Amino acid sequence: MPKIKMICPYCGSDDVTRDALARWSMPKQKWEVSSELDTMQCEACGREIGPDGFDTAPVEADTRDVGLAVRDFLEGRTLSIHQENEDEGTLVPVADAAVDSIDASDPNNLIVALDNGQRFTLRVVAGT
Ligand SMILES: [Zn+2]
Repeated sequence: MPKIKMICPYCGSDDVTRDALARWSMPKQKWEVSSELDTMQCEACGREIGPDGFDTAPVEADTRDVGLAVRDFLEGRTLSIHQENEDEGTLVPVADAAVDSIDASDPNNLIVALDNGQRFTLRVVAGT
């Protein structure tokens, strides 16, 4: 299920809090929220939020999540290698190569090794 975040309806910040009652949990040895109260605040702009509550917004995947998704997508695939045709600037297929391994120890810089010995780095950069 995609994650959401609570945001201030006035300034859009997600630095928001809500009053709640807590009850001591003996088995877990910590306070647990037993009921949420209607008092909500935005710590960024200092406003009290009315009865309509916070707005919600989807949590965007960070580049790490994108890098890991790209790795999952590429694993086991065969890539078609193309070379630029110097006359017309078109791309001509020259070979196929299977993805041999992907080093995702840094998910923002995937190192992809092909079974023909070629290696390349796939850099994941955040958009604007
Ligand atoms: Zn605010």
